[in-house]
Amino acid sequence: MRGLFVGRFQPFHNGHMKAVEWILGRCDELVIAVGSTQRSFNRMEVFTAGERIEMMRRALKARKLDGRCIIIPVSDINNNALWVSHVNSLCPEFDVVFSNNPLVKLLFSEVGKKVVEVPLFDRKSCDGSHIRKLMLSGAKWKELVPKEVAEFIIQKRGIERLRSISKEDKYGVVA
Ligand code: NAD
Repeated sequence: MRGLFVGRFQPFHNGHMKAVEWILGRCDELVIAVGSTQRSFNRMEVFTAGERIEMMRRALKARKLDGRCIIIPVSDINNNALWVSHVNSLCPEFDVVFSNNPLVKLLFSEVGKKVVEVPLFDRKSCDGSHIRKLMLSGAKWKELVPKEVAEFIIQKRGIERLRSISKEDKYGVVA
């Protein structure tokens, strides 16, 4: 059986990793759709699609899960009613969708696709916006993402990027 897991992964954190492991306990293979590929270099979406794929691949490889995962970049489209067709046109076939995102669940359910929620792991801390806040404030964040992801973010000077794009000019916050 092949599953689909959609996310923005800004960044790919321990909650995402646990979700992937949980799904792979139930599926042979997993298509991971990296969403919103057109967005990067802003406070909410810091990393490019390529960077998110890279961080995810490194974390999966370290856990010997890369051979069971197919990572596909998926841009957003300006029409929710057509989004499932858009995803289907880009991804290999899958039998079941794993998501807790209400819109993702609704759109796939509408076309009769089986949708399964994944258990939330340490949701208070393992949350993209919380982790980005910690990064901005200089607080500890590395333990909330897989080690390989932390190394990659540091290598790409991701914290410096986040701070630069969060600076205010005289009109307020830039991004
Ligand atoms: P996300 O990175 O916030 O989350 C991805 C998944 O991981 C979600 O199912 C989430 O519930 C789960 N998760 C998060 N934290 C977790 C934790 N601590 N433990 C376990 N699981 C956890 O991404 P998202 O916002 O759900 O991504 C949806 C993507 O689909 C976006 O890119 C969005 O733009 C795209 N989308 C696009 C359209 C369109 O283009 N019209 C429509 C619908 C969705």
